[in-house]
Amino acid sequence: MADPNGFLKHTRSDGTKRPVDDRLGDWAEVYAAIEQPKRDNEVRTQAARCMDCGIPFCHSGSAGCPLGNLIPEWNDLVRRGDWEQASERLHATNNFPEFTGRLCPAPCEAACVLSISHDSGGAVAIKRVEQAIADVAWESGTVQTLPSGISTGKKVAVVGSGPAGLAAAQQLTRAGHEVTVFERDDRLGGLLRYGIPEFKMEKQVLDRRLAQLRAEGTRFITNCEVGVDLPVEKLREEFDAVVLAVGALRGRDTPETPGRQLRGVHLAMEHLVPANKFCEGDGPTTIDAAGKNVVIIGGGDTGADCLGTAHRQGAVAVYQLDQYPQPPTVRDDDRSPWPTWPWVLRSYAAHEEGGERLYAVAVESFVDDGSGQVRAVRLRKVRVERDASGRRRVVPQSEEVEEIPCDLALLAIGFEGVEHMRLLDDLGLALTPRGTLSCGTDWQTSSPGVFVCGDAHRGASLVVWAIAEGRSVANAVDTYLTGASDLPSPVHPT
Ligand code: SF4
Repeated sequence: MADPNGFLKHTRSDGTKRPVDDRLGDWAEVYAAIEQPKRDNEVRTQAARCMDCGIPFCHSGSAGCPLGNLIPEWNDLVRRGDWEQASERLHATNNFPEFTGRLCPAPCEAACVLSISHDSGGAVAIKRVEQAIADVAWESGTVQTLPSGISTGKKVAVVGSGPAGLAAAQQLTRAGHEVTVFERDDRLGGLLRYGIPEFKMEKQVLDRRLAQLRAEGTRFITNCEVGVDLPVEKLREEFDAVVLAVGALRGRDTPETPGRQLRGVHLAMEHLVPANKFCEGDGPTTIDAAGKNVVIIGGGDTGADCLGTAHRQGAVAVYQLDQYPQPPTVRDDDRSPWPTWPWVLRSYAAHEEGGERLYAVAVESFVDDGSGQVRAVRLRKVRVERDASGRRRVVPQSEEVEEIPCDLALLAIGFEGVEHMRLLDDLGLALTPRGTLSCGTDWQTSSPGVFVCGDAHRGASLVVWAIAEGRSVANAVDTYLTGASDLPSPVHPT
């Protein structure tokens, strides 16, 4: 039984990051690898802070883990040193805990009861425990291939190999279906491969999981754009069901801003994708921040990824702009997101590495150097308001305009939904006003036998939601193909 006073005995610790100078000299993960048995002992201490609440808000409800991760159970198993059982319980609800342990902003920690009080020392370091369980399982060889052992004779095509597609594919393969994952890029993983920088998750973490899926029987075809290289008629002919996990990669742009057309002004993904390809050994990146003044427009996850990438490429200076005012910062000794959540300042490792954040500002224009290349960005102080209908408005606060130097501007202002693709046209699928694909309560689109999950359905969201939707759509497809399903379905369509 968990120690109800564990959180009073042990201080929360998120692990040790490598020194900034070391981090900026390579692309390896930010957190330092800790030698055994020190790591296991440290993580056991963190797990021992969990009270095993009667109502564990961390793993249930609207604010906790969408996967329904059995957090108190595996915290207690880790506390007792039973890593193998902890891995079994963790994998019972999460196909890829090594991804969420590294990449998820951990709604479970925001929901943890220990977040209520400043005196508690903050939430249990759930994310750290999760990553350690997964890493220990891989290192000790306890992550096994789980081939189905049965064959339903049904064929499923999964379009897209990001976390939602991979979760759906693994669940459906294990249920006995013949699953083929189609990826238009040259390598598998979607955003995990080409959107997430190496310093947040090294790609060998993805590759070992892909090897497991292959060993279980999932087939993969890369360099294949379904709808073009594989026409829709052939897709429908060859497969009994189709899962669309095509992401929501249409980057929000700002075409009305004067100077947007200048050389050196790019969408964030135009910077991140080639930078990640460089890390894969594909030669020099096409958009390099080396020696440049970089301005990142947008203060979220993608902006932070651009920030860390620009510093590693050797930027001279990096500014990151946000239209919102500076929110209250979480002090080191005050990790409580309640009652300030979600108005706390999200802390990213990339922000410790340099750069300047400018708040309550918006770009007035990009300035031409006379040759068609951006040389500066003009900013104005703004306030974000909502009108009577709830629409967001950005209101200038002064006539004064500030100019900052800029050789490379990166627009990290969000995503507007699914990219245009022939596949959707040929399936006759229209986009919602949010730019996503709608579906019924069974995840099925208006095209019979075609299902949707992940960002393509939800809009750009967290990796944990992608996995949860991938698992849920697998249940729906299994039911569609066989009449019933034992697969879990942790979430429902929005
Ligand atoms: Fe443990 Fe926090 Fe979950 Fe309670 S809410 S069971 S303390 S992790």
